[in-house]
Amino acid sequence: MADLPDLLPLAEAQRRVLDGVSALPTEVVGIAEAGGRVLAEPAQSALTLPVWINSAMDGFAVRAAEVASATRAQPVVLRVLGEVPAGRAPDLAVEPGTALRIMTGAMMPDGADTVVPVEQTDAPAGASEIPATVAVYVPTSSGENLRLPGSDVSAGALLLDAGRSLDAAAIALLAATGHGSVHVYRRPRVAVISTGDELVAPGEPLGPAQIHDSNSYALAAQAVEAGAEVRRLGVAGDTLAALVDMLRGAVAWADVVVLSGGVSLGAHDHVKAAFAELGSLSLWRVAIKPGRPFAYARAQVDGRSVALFGLPGNPVSVFVTFELFVRPVIRQLEGRLVAFDRPTRMARLTQPMRGSSGRHTIARVILAADPERPDGLVARSSGGQDSYMLGSLAKANGMIFIPPDADLPAGAEVVAWELRARD
Ligand code: AMP
Ligand code: MG
Repeated sequence: MADLPDLLPLAEAQRRVLDGVSALPTEVVGIAEAGGRVLAEPAQSALTLPVWINSAMDGFAVRAAEVASATRAQPVVLRVLGEVPAGRAPDLAVEPGTALRIMTGAMMPDGADTVVPVEQTDAPAGASEIPATVAVYVPTSSGENLRLPGSDVSAGALLLDAGRSLDAAAIALLAATGHGSVHVYRRPRVAVISTGDELVAPGEPLGPAQIHDSNSYALAAQAVEAGAEVRRLGVAGDTLAALVDMLRGAVAWADVVVLSGGVSLGAHDHVKAAFAELGSLSLWRVAIKPGRPFAYARAQVDGRSVALFGLPGNPVSVFVTFELFVRPVIRQLEGRLVAFDRPTRMARLTQPMRGSSGRHTIARVILAADPERPDGLVARSSGGQDSYMLGSLAKANGMIFIPPDADLPAGAEVVAWELRARD
């Protein structure tokens, strides 16, 4: 029997893979391109927001003291001097007995200290001529319906910390405070390679003994979802020379190279040898099911450190090992503060489940709200759990971790990762 190294526990393998992986260099990108990127420097505000006092309503700028007695039966009637539209500084002040029509976000005129909403007057709502007078039906107090300078953001304030993912809310804040561009980490470049003489691209007819390459497409989708820039390099044949050749091309561009297949004990499995030619192989057997044969190496290329992942060939093993090892590395390269980001919950099994001898089993499940505990989850198998079965993978919305050698009854609690929003 071949001489095999010991199985590495999952957590130890994850630690080794992430060890020494640090954020990529930074770059400046326009705010329109910054969505999904990670902030590399704290963002501060050069502006106070609002910059100037403005109206929170469409209505009439008035003096609060003059409308204090207003009722629907006995409105206060004011002369309308003109209006203040958004984007134009007021050229008139509100005098005693008068009002200015004002739009939401427009600059408050001098002389007024509150805005009466148009709905609380006899003036027509919507597009209309400026009325000569306005009858005010309700009092509004001094300061009401105004947005004061600094009530949102103060100049010099810390807006966002380094490491913040630039989601829509962060982009809105940066744009509003005048940031035309931002410092972000460079996106990781991920090259994807399939190996195997049996592989044919989807869309092509299958010859005898052929299957469609699904791994490179799945991996590309996973890497894009993780925020990477991705190139699918195609299929390498099952020879060491073909593999090394393709790998050399990959490391010249990529920060991360992800291969699938050819990493096991088969007579045509050359990935480990190919990795050893390019860099230093640091592990290749992990105590998990699926995914036991999994190779990891690092190569130094022109002063850059490139991570090489040799994932098993079986499509579910590919998916699971990407989640466990590759996604966290991509996130760490992106400068994110948390490498393991999938929401982790405890879930109650709806059926008994067995672990495997000496290995963590990662099972595909459907997670749903627990009918007995409103804040809890239940997990049920999404179907066949063999590592070639893609039907149950696509049905799953999560995966659970069954400890080595466990024999879990229905009702047992397990750690679950939520992989996508529940349908
Ligand atoms: P290997 O580790 O190369 O022996 O592959 C293990 C299993 O995964 C075999 O059934 C392969 O046919 C299958 N496999 C390998 N690569 C791919 C791929 N890119 N797409 C789909 N299945 C694959
Ligand atoms: Mg193969």
